[in-house]
Amino acid sequence: MRGVVMHSAGDVRVEERDDPKIIEPTDAIIRLTASCICGSDLWPYRGVEPVDHQVMGHEYVGVVEEIGPEVQSIKVGDFVVGSFWASDNTCEICRAGYQAYCVHRVLMGTIGTQSELARIPLADGTLVATPGQPDADLVPSLMAASDVLGTGWFAAVAAEAGPGKTVAVVGDGAVGLLGILAAKQLGAERIIAFSRHADRQALAREFGATDIVEERGDAGVARVKDLTGGLGASSVIEAVGTQEAMMQAIHSTRPGGHVGFVGVSHDVAIPGDELFMAGVHIHGGPAPVRQYLPELIRLIWDRTIDPGKVFDLTLPLEKAAEGYQAMHERRATKVLLTF
Ligand SMILES: [Zn+2]
Repeated sequence: MRGVVMHSAGDVRVEERDDPKIIEPTDAIIRLTASCICGSDLWPYRGVEPVDHQVMGHEYVGVVEEIGPEVQSIKVGDFVVGSFWASDNTCEICRAGYQAYCVHRVLMGTIGTQSELARIPLADGTLVATPGQPDADLVPSLMAASDVLGTGWFAAVAAEAGPGKTVAVVGDGAVGLLGILAAKQLGAERIIAFSRHADRQALAREFGATDIVEERGDAGVARVKDLTGGLGASSVIEAVGTQEAMMQAIHSTRPGGHVGFVGVSHDVAIPGDELFMAGVHIHGGPAPVRQYLPELIRLIWDRTIDPGKVFDLTLPLEKAAEGYQAMHERRATKVLLTF
């Protein structure tokens, strides 16, 4: 099969890889309908994280080709969506809704789903079948559910976005934009998006943002305070992962408010005195996307939400390197790979 391998920083190739085989009796093999490039794939691409001939990709939708002898709920021919952590969905941590920390979890990035086929461990727990074969125009939205939508959703839940709340969103990448969509679905009254890019501002408004703030850092915090009677937002989503973004999120939150952080942390250090004085709740980390998949699939299937709009470039798998380049240069927010 064909699949993406990152040889070294900036060197992405599509190569012949061995077809995956069932290894554990709980595995399934899927044929991908689409894959995509994640903002987090850019960390090794830019040399911020080490990389050496790494298979790439952790987002996937596709059709089940083969199942192991112990797989019971997933059938050959099902169209399925799964998240970037394979999880059994039965252990105590999973049942508490934290499937990203399943005691048997497997990181899909080590398997590499920017490929024609993929082995999915713990198939019964990991995969959620759609009600039938999706119309082609639903595939990008189902693909988004695999990571960026589920992650934005978790951020909004962790920030306790809901009716009557003012939600501020730091980060206008795919996750931040879908955090806006999630906050809107959860009933937020007002949604403030931090963004400097006209195209992303437009999508933010389409997803439910009521206010746009172009300033960053302390100036951005001051704008949020201006917009909220000096109090700060009740819920703040942090979807970047840098020091500036995290402090901007904490300082934009009113006392007693909630920060939901999902930007993959890179050298973030929160000063203890600022944390102490902020008086805010902070919750986040790798999103338990699996918890939300049934609900997200239903909202997509019913055409209530259209998260697939975050994909602004679609390329065949063979041109994956071009997709990485486009995201690296910020010419694309998120790239869909097709087969
Ligand atoms: Zn588990």
